[in-house]
Amino acid sequence: MALDNTWFTEIYPADGAAFSFKIKAKLHDERTPYQHIEIYDTVGFGKLMVIDGCVMLTDRDNFLYHEMMSHPVLFAHRAPKKVMVIGGGDCGTLREVLKHPGVEEAWQVEIDERVTRLSEQYFPALCSANDDPRAHLYFGDGIQWLKDAAPESLDVIIVDSTDPVGPAEGLFNEAFYRNCHRALCPGGILVGQSESPLFHKTLIQSMHGAMRAAGFDHTRTFYFPQCVYPSGWWSATLAGKGVDPLGFREQDAAQKSFATDYYSADIHRAALVAPAFMAGVGG
Ligand code: SAM
Repeated sequence: MALDNTWFTEIYPADGAAFSFKIKAKLHDERTPYQHIEIYDTVGFGKLMVIDGCVMLTDRDNFLYHEMMSHPVLFAHRAPKKVMVIGGGDCGTLREVLKHPGVEEAWQVEIDERVTRLSEQYFPALCSANDDPRAHLYFGDGIQWLKDAAPESLDVIIVDSTDPVGPAEGLFNEAFYRNCHRALCPGGILVGQSESPLFHKTLIQSMHGAMRAAGFDHTRTFYFPQCVYPSGWWSATLAGKGVDPLGFREQDAAQKSFATDYYSADIHRAALVAPAFMAGVGG
């Protein structure tokens, strides 16, 4: 079926595929010093944010990504108190992190302040925890921030980044992971969004190699659905400093004090099961 100009389509040329949204209106279009940000109102998915032509999030399904970028790593850590989010300017991951009562401080380092300001305007629910006294929002390059971070000052680092091109390219290499390793306390855990298992297996493999080379003892990839991202299936990769993030506080996860729409202790366990074609990738 041919699509007219009332559709937004993200094309994945390398894989000969695409995903489309029926659009009600374009709400915003802006070129910042870092990237091109568009906001749409869609017929089926609520508001949609697009950066450099790539779908970032929608009202309808962002809970999957934000919950899975935060709760698995936080329940894998023994007692996370100091948490750093790199990227994540829509603030949805930060909101989930702050649901954990044991978290004392959470920093978000987003390179592009406009992503956050537009999220406050168009995705206010995601920004609802920004006034929490434990939340600290900084605007700058996460790569530099980690270079400058005090050694052994963080329990958890969450890399909620765009794809590994442009400003996010340096968030996927050994030099960056080495700085994360240094900044983490013993028992600390890093998690990074690691793209589609179906489309980007090589990237996931290279992330495991770079994390291990940077000094992490154990690396694990987990999986979750995300229909608006390439292939509809996404992953994140954990790296533990002296700890295997395959284990997690199952009892605490099962009895968590806050509501989630996707995450549960059972989902956590299931998400860590590697599909057969990914066997041997890290782990
Ligand atoms: N869920 C999204 C996805 O996987 O497509 C990512 C959402 S979040 C909006 C990604 C953010 O990472 C963007 O706002 C972008 O500005 C930010 N970012 C990219 N490179 C960065 C860097 N080097 N330091 C800090 N933030 C960065």
